[in-house]
Amino acid sequence: MMNLSTDCKLVKKKNCEDATKIKIGETVIGQDFAIIAGPCSVEDEVTTLKIAEEIAVLDIKFFRAGAFKPRNSPYSFQGYGDKALNILSKVKSVSGLKIVTEVLDNDAFDAICDVADIVQVGAKNMGNTALLKKLGGINKPVLLKRGFAAKIEEFLLAAEYILSNGNKNIILCERGIRTFDDFTRFTFDVAAIPTLKSFAHLPVFADPSHATGLRELVTPMAKAAVVAGADGLLIEAHIDPDKALSDSRQTINIDELKNINNKVKALLAFR
Ligand code: PEP
Ligand code: MN
Repeated sequence: MMNLSTDCKLVKKKNCEDATKIKIGETVIGQDFAIIAGPCSVEDEVTTLKIAEEIAVLDIKFFRAGAFKPRNSPYSFQGYGDKALNILSKVKSVSGLKIVTEVLDNDAFDAICDVADIVQVGAKNMGNTALLKKLGGINKPVLLKRGFAAKIEEFLLAAEYILSNGNKNIILCERGIRTFDDFTRFTFDVAAIPTLKSFAHLPVFADPSHATGLRELVTPMAKAAVVAGADGLLIEAHIDPDKALSDSRQTINIDELKNINNKVKALLAFR
């Protein structure tokens, strides 16, 4: 196994009792297995509220949806922006779900942090050191996604940027890396889960949706992630996946989400 850079000072796990636990509402992340589910992008208000309602019925506590979407192409849908933040705050008050949404280093930074219960750093921004430093100064947990070309150590050093600037509440998220094979959108690095957990004291989530890009692979990879030791899953789900505004091909329906949720308890016994 590789040796970790000595600069991984704060992120490094010192002993088995060292695990970071983050209490959000009634869930203690790092202790209670948690699912974060919802559409890739915030949809129109009616659709978003309906998805949230169906997720809440499953007793899932966290709702994800992007308001600002840093897409590969400038011509692709960029998210409903400020309007989406209002929809997310409605989701929060109507459903009681906790909100996970991506933060960008833009004019809406404060408004995004206000509505989010967990602030998501997207894979494209994992190496944005100015943004990471800024997130060190906020009072909200950060879900930090692995850059798709980032080595484990680079990922941990990105977390170190946030920790060393004062924010201790970080969740690492493996979301697939780029390899030679583009059959799947990215290659799910399932080994990263136990590796990160052995080096760092932070909770580790897995995102089988972006990791595969194919909805038929989401359930098998979600199961693999649970058995591999993940503290939680981030999953793209929609009441009508084919109509999703973005990432439709990797988005599962609510029945499939329910199926994953029902299997988690039994899978936890395998680790
Ligand atoms: C997302 O969660 O919708 C997203 C854009 O993910 P990533 O940053 O991992 O590509
Ligand atoms: Mn997405």
